[in-house]
Amino acid sequence: MKLRFAPSPTGRLHVGNARVALINWLYARQQGGSFLLRMDDTDEERSTAAFAEGIEADLRWLGLSWDEFARQSDRYQRYEEAAERLKQAGRLYPCYETPEELSLKRKALLNAGRPPIYDRAALGLSDQQRAAFEAEGRRPHWRFKLAHEAIEWTDLVRGPQHFEGEKLSDPVLIREDGRPLYTLSSVVDDAELGVTHVIRGEDHVANTAVQAQLFQALGAEVPAFGHLPLLTDAEGKGLSKRLGSLSLEALREEGVEAMTLNAYLAALGTPEAAPAVASLSELLTHFDLSRYGRATPKFDPSDLKLLNARILHHTPFEAVAERLPGLDPQTWEAIRPNLETLQEASAWLAICHAPIAPNIEEPDFTLEAARFLPPEPWSEETWGEWTSALKQATGRKGKQLFLPLRLALTGLDHGPELKALLPLIGRERADKRLRGETA
Ligand code: GLU
Repeated sequence: MKLRFAPSPTGRLHVGNARVALINWLYARQQGGSFLLRMDDTDEERSTAAFAEGIEADLRWLGLSWDEFARQSDRYQRYEEAAERLKQAGRLYPCYETPEELSLKRKALLNAGRPPIYDRAALGLSDQQRAAFEAEGRRPHWRFKLAHEAIEWTDLVRGPQHFEGEKLSDPVLIREDGRPLYTLSSVVDDAELGVTHVIRGEDHVANTAVQAQLFQALGAEVPAFGHLPLLTDAEGKGLSKRLGSLSLEALREEGVEAMTLNAYLAALGTPEAAPAVASLSELLTHFDLSRYGRATPKFDPSDLKLLNARILHHTPFEAVAERLPGLDPQTWEAIRPNLETLQEASAWLAICHAPIAPNIEEPDFTLEAARFLPPEPWSEETWGEWTSALKQATGRKGKQLFLPLRLALTGLDHGPELKALLPLIGRERADKRLRGETA
């Protein structure tokens, strides 16, 4: 089995196309197949090398490794050869209509209450008529002659699909400047690079009907197809306008972990809730392509945020150690239950291991508390022993007892459990902070 992800490098990855990449990757890895990354960069006006590099960086961030890489701009010759074969077989024909002429034809058909299907007028041109167009300086674009027969496949997501060849326009495969269009280049690549399963967005369903015939016309095996419904926002509106803020780059900056996005995107559109997994291999054990249905999945950033916290609460030290210099396993254990983003960890790391200014609201009480601090060594029991003694001595309890201690020890009124923080802060700093000193 070979799966592929075929982005057009006309922008960075956003949650919509990242989800397609992820599902292809998971399916490939689960089935023991291989995964191809293909840059569909034949749109030379809009594609850039920087976007292509950015997409690779985004995929690496997600952890989606590829076994093979291809770039369509390296393969123009293959498309020309395929076009030549189609011409020889009488399946590719030159057309000379201008965009204006085509638009008039479409309007006329629509006005007459008929579907705007290309009328194949160019098929009836004589050699002389073609020569006359050429003499006027017109260059032809080339259309694929569809067979007028039923086109059927069992979609991996949508189930049985049925199209009629005669209800589709013969698609343009070559533009008048000679450049191949996606419909052709994609099929040539899928065929020649041995792609067996094409999973993509449902905006491509009609392309698939056409492409299925193109595979056959080129003598290639038709791959299996799956079309995933496109994501909407939490209100059910299309994401297209918000894709900038939903780029992987933007989400990463907001503190969304790669695994949060993977787990969230893999669960969207299935009946399962996103699992709080810490690795792609764990996510693989939850993956089941047959769970994706036709209902429109809603992308809800607030769910993403909650999942991010849940995942951080389970993330092992080894998975974050490199990103937080100075972090030790014990501190990680103490602070992770309180994190919403990993960025917040640095502040807690500093509170445990660097000088901070305490927040003293009741100096008499915190001074007394300092005198009650037990001698080291300290453990997670220390907090309980110390505060019970204080409770007895002062008669304070609950918030009255704990809040001034928290403010003095951490400078903040909220945070991880103090029984875990106290041994990390250590007696010397704790004593000074309780006395109002920066320590
Ligand atoms: N480059 C196409 C796109 O981004 C690929 C579609 C496909 O997977 O075939 O829409």
